[in-house]
Amino acid sequence: MLRGFFINAAILISFVSISNLIFYKIGLSPRSPLKYRLLHGLICGLLGMVLIEFGVPIPPSGVMSFRNIAIIWAALYSGPVSAVSAGVMIAGYRLIRLALNWSSLTALLGTTLVVVASCLIARLRLRLWKRGLIAVLFHLIVNTIIFSGVITDGRTLRTLLSFYWIGTALVAWLVYLYAERLETTSRQFRIFKEESARDHLTGLNNLREYELFLAAAAEEARANREPISLLYIDIDFFKSINDRFGHPAGDDVLKEIAGIMKRICRRVDFISRNGGEEFTILLVNCPAFSALEVAERIRRTVAQHPFETADGELLTVTLSIGVATYPDHVADPDQLAERADEALYAAKRGGRNRVVCAKRLSP
Ligand code: GH3
Ligand code: MG
Ligand code: MG
Repeated sequence: MLRGFFINAAILISFVSISNLIFYKIGLSPRSPLKYRLLHGLICGLLGMVLIEFGVPIPPSGVMSFRNIAIIWAALYSGPVSAVSAGVMIAGYRLIRLALNWSSLTALLGTTLVVVASCLIARLRLRLWKRGLIAVLFHLIVNTIIFSGVITDGRTLRTLLSFYWIGTALVAWLVYLYAERLETTSRQFRIFKEESARDHLTGLNNLREYELFLAAAAEEARANREPISLLYIDIDFFKSINDRFGHPAGDDVLKEIAGIMKRICRRVDFISRNGGEEFTILLVNCPAFSALEVAERIRRTVAQHPFETADGELLTVTLSIGVATYPDHVADPDQLAERADEALYAAKRGGRNRVVCAKRLSP
């Protein structure tokens, strides 16, 4: 019997691991897209079938299976759609696998009750472990009532129920601990991945993400001979803003400028803060004249925007912007950054608060 418990625990752990392999990038929840919830329901349904096959024999003549834990897992982690799909699969399989008799009909009723109750319990505003505990307790009580109705021999009933309660509690607890450990690790992975690509102050892409995106976009532009433009943007005399109004006011200016750039650019444009008061915007499939228009709009909007400090003081901020486009200004997209940077410094030398375009390649 111990062997049976061990095998069932191993099956449950394996399915939780497989599910984590599939869902660790998206993070499964009752709000996940329908296809993922259905897929989780399918996995839980399969798990329930395997658990039926590996039911633990309880002397003298009982068999217990942990299939309802699969339904509770589905309800708690991905909601009613997966719990119902898993329940239908498990109940259907049990009816096909075992003879249709009084015992299998009561088992079907038990599964239906567990599906409905798990879905309702999963909606309670309680910590996950509390919802899991209530669902497992409900399942145990339902099955205790069913066993009491089906098994007439008092000794067999007591033995079965003792093993059922202890076994289910231990296995459910183990599954909860394991599933939560995996979920926490996956959640942290997703957060770290997201944060490793972002600039924490402005929420824009960071330098690392910009370099990765630029390399991929350059490759694509080269392959398809599509125009691609790069804007190098630097705030003018930003140090003096910090010196006059303080570092926090400087931070607010950086955030506001990031907001202005987001509002002006398209969703496909790739805006990054590459460090300090320097930004880049990569405009995919964008010819030089459109890139110049975008750059000029950003420059003008920032120059006309009244930036207000926490003390209510108004200040004006200006930008210098360098623009380079492939194939107009560079023979290879890999040279875009260098040429946009040169154009930016030409804008600084030319007196700041201006857009300068890289020189055209001679025909
Ligand atoms: P220029 O017109 O030549 O670009 O002059 P500048 O003052 O903008 O350039 P400089 O390189 O001399 O100064 C950049 C300043 O940006 C210095 C630094 O204190 C400030 N800075 C860098 N990162 C941050 C930040 O995250 N927050 C704030 N508030 N300031 C920052
Ligand atoms: Mg500057
Ligand atoms: Mg600078």
